[in-house]
Amino acid sequence: MTVPSPIAIHCLSSRLVSLLLTAACLLPLSPALAQVKTGYPAERGLKSSDFPRTIRLADGVYGYEDIRAPGFTTVSMFFVGTEGVLLADGQESPQAMRRLLEAIARVSDKPVKWYVFGSDHLDHTGGNALLPKDARLIVHPTSRAQLASDAINAKPDALRVSVPPTAMTSSEETVDIGGREVRVMFLGRAHTGGDLVVYAPKEKILFMSEVYFNRVFPAMRAAFPDEWLSTIDKALQMDVQQFVPGHGFIEAASRSREQLVEFRGAVAYVIAEVTRLKSLGLSIDDAMKEANWGPYTDWMLADSQRLVAIKRMYDQLDERLR
Ligand SMILES: [Zn+2]
Repeated sequence: MTVPSPIAIHCLSSRLVSLLLTAACLLPLSPALAQVKTGYPAERGLKSSDFPRTIRLADGVYGYEDIRAPGFTTVSMFFVGTEGVLLADGQESPQAMRRLLEAIARVSDKPVKWYVFGSDHLDHTGGNALLPKDARLIVHPTSRAQLASDAINAKPDALRVSVPPTAMTSSEETVDIGGREVRVMFLGRAHTGGDLVVYAPKEKILFMSEVYFNRVFPAMRAAFPDEWLSTIDKALQMDVQQFVPGHGFIEAASRSREQLVEFRGAVAYVIAEVTRLKSLGLSIDDAMKEANWGPYTDWMLADSQRLVAIKRMYDQLDERLR
């Protein structure tokens, strides 16, 4: 089926004002700007005041981009049914989560009844204390264990993360949100180990959370690099027209597959390059000096994530030898 072009709905402070002005504020993304392939907002002609923004992907299916330090987007998705709203991934703080819940309220008067932990990392869960208390929390067992451990070991400012009472018992769960079916799926380990994706089968839209960063250097602190590739491959084999990332920009359906393939290439490149550096017998410091990051040198977060990738891969390669 044809998916409507992305439409940005700019953030407005008052719900009443927004209802009155919604029609006036529906701005189609500029086709020219949409062609720029980058994770940097400025290179897409966007200012920090353009965020957060809600992007309508199909009837009742919305992407949401907010900016976090050092200037890239964290993406949430929400699906509106007649019974309530299913939210996949939150934002990094109560303040950011409040903005997200206000954006949801601007397009639906239904409560958030389901919340999916695509990623258990704090930049996606830090505002979860603001979720309705009776919202059902859907989480992979690995992420639930991580959230429980984080809560025990948390510094006082991290206690706001809620731990779900139960975890998924299989790798797929279908949620009927009223007039719409949404599938929560574990396709394999990638960035966190408990990575969940959310699929709208009718609209053929797949929210990939941190399995997919669009033009953002693969962040590997807690990742499973080899398995990450096969997890992306499973997503690519699904009947999907639009892949939505957990960081970086939401692309139009027509180019989202090529960008996911591009990201897969980045993960594969980093794996191959660090494996080469290790095979030369280089220390981590020398590997940093010797590394050639090719076309990914200038991707968002490359400066901070190159060393992280080397350390994680060195650990994993050492483990294989044990
Ligand atoms: Zn993240």
